[in-house]
Amino acid sequence: MRAWGVEQGCLFCGERDEDRDHLFFACPYTYTLWLRVLGSLLQPVPSPDWNENLCLLTAPAPNRFTSILSKLAFQVTIYYIWKEMNGRRHNQVARPVEQLSKFIDKTIRQRVLSTRYYEKPHLLGLLQHWFSTRTGRA
Ligand SMILES: [Zn+2]
Repeated sequence: MRAWGVEQGCLFCGERDEDRDHLFFACPYTYTLWLRVLGSLLQPVPSPDWNENLCLLTAPAPNRFTSILSKLAFQVTIYYIWKEMNGRRHNQVARPVEQLSKFIDKTIRQRVLSTRYYEKPHLLGLLQHWFSTRTGRA
């Protein structure tokens, strides 16, 4: 936007330097959202740093379910942040973190169900694992 002479800060918090690192997840809005989506899935809780999050997501996870679910959560969260940003830019509709995190949670459950994971012995318990990480943080 700046290249076109348009001065527009972060649509979530108003910060002037709206670059990738700010958006994922130095921004208080997106970082709060990310932590809510993760629940207790990743321990310890990741910092707002983009590179640290990438390292965490590509490093070997403590188990198969955490590996699958954290990558899925990351993809869905990034998608919804873009969607929310466009919504704010074009439709002036701003949804609170609480609401957006519920959409993301629903999308993740639907994605897991759509894989018919329950028919694959090595994926039995995948959705239960996701549910178990929902209670870690209110
Ligand atoms: Zn921001």
